[in-house]
Amino acid sequence: MTTPLIDPFERAIKYLRISVTDRCDFRCVYCMAENMTFLPKAELLTLEELDRMCTAFIRMGVEKLRITGGEPLVRKGIMTFFEAMGRHLETGALKELTFTTNGSQLARFARPLYDAGVRRVNVSLDTLDEEKFARVTRWGRLPQVLDGIRAAQDAGLRVKINAVALRDFNEDELFTLTEWCARNDIDLTWIEVMPMGDIGNEDRVGQYWSLRDLRARLESRYTVVDTPERTGGPARYARLEETGQRIGFITPLSHNFCESCNRVRLTCTGQLFMCLGQEDMADLRAPLRNNPADDTALETAIRAAIDRKPKGHDFDYSRQRPDGQVSRHMSHTGG
Ligand code: SAM
Ligand code: SF4
Repeated sequence: MTTPLIDPFERAIKYLRISVTDRCDFRCVYCMAENMTFLPKAELLTLEELDRMCTAFIRMGVEKLRITGGEPLVRKGIMTFFEAMGRHLETGALKELTFTTNGSQLARFARPLYDAGVRRVNVSLDTLDEEKFARVTRWGRLPQVLDGIRAAQDAGLRVKINAVALRDFNEDELFTLTEWCARNDIDLTWIEVMPMGDIGNEDRVGQYWSLRDLRARLESRYTVVDTPERTGGPARYARLEETGQRIGFITPLSHNFCESCNRVRLTCTGQLFMCLGQEDMADLRAPLRNNPADDTALETAIRAAIDRKPKGHDFDYSRQRPDGQVSRHMSHTGG
């Protein structure tokens, strides 16, 4: 291993999220416009390039990879990539290989993913109501996702649900979702909606449901006990005393936790974003493609990028408009 990656604020960078495609088989209202244009395929890193890129980061101290998108499981040949990353799990250099999915393809992929060394998966699910699910994802079907979740559990994967807290949409499902997760032995994390990318005519500020409010409502029925668990990200965790289940809160808006951030994000075109909520990025595709047999230039570019990692993001809705907005979509950077 080479010298580990440490940013200017003494944060060790051990976690890389990789968006392997900007494409998706859903069109969630807070994530994409209905008529999204996707990148031409030639712009994307090939599977071999993704492998080289991740391997370089692992050499530089990254211990956790999260594969995301767009929808990672719609990327052609993606299993080859997961299987290839399994070799880093075997050497112990990589501690965890995981992914975030909308669940639509899980029934097909759960077992091979387990065989490749994946043990945990985050599935995004904002509602358990079929009609509302169709409305929020525009193109999704709830039964297919529920089948996928069952298949993941049957294959031995630990499932966590990520739900975006949406005002006037899933406020009334706070308890239903909590109880469903408790019954199925699934952890649940709530996310505040972030101002990322043009989403057509949808209203950002109108979508925003603060997790402070959500938590207060949860406390009207359950005893919510904070736990000291930290993952180096914006999530904070609590346990519901009555059910014993874990609840996560990702609060980039109402409370940000940038001071302990340990992660960077690679887009499917090889741009490295040092912060989800800032526009600054470093192009890693050029040093990679221009030097097919040598990673020196790539490693130099990675170190230079980490030296520019900002202290934090500037998302803010308090002035009744989505301040700190970034132009790219979550599906490009990888949520
Ligand atoms: N397609 C996969 C999925 O939906 O899980 C992976 C990519 S998706 C961009 C990753 C996560 O970002 C999902 O949990 C999604 O709900 C969340 N997300 C997308 N747009 C968001 C936004 N504007 N604010 C907050 N979360 C968002
Ligand atoms: Fe696709 Fe995930 Fe974005 Fe929904 S949140 S449109 S599933 S990338």
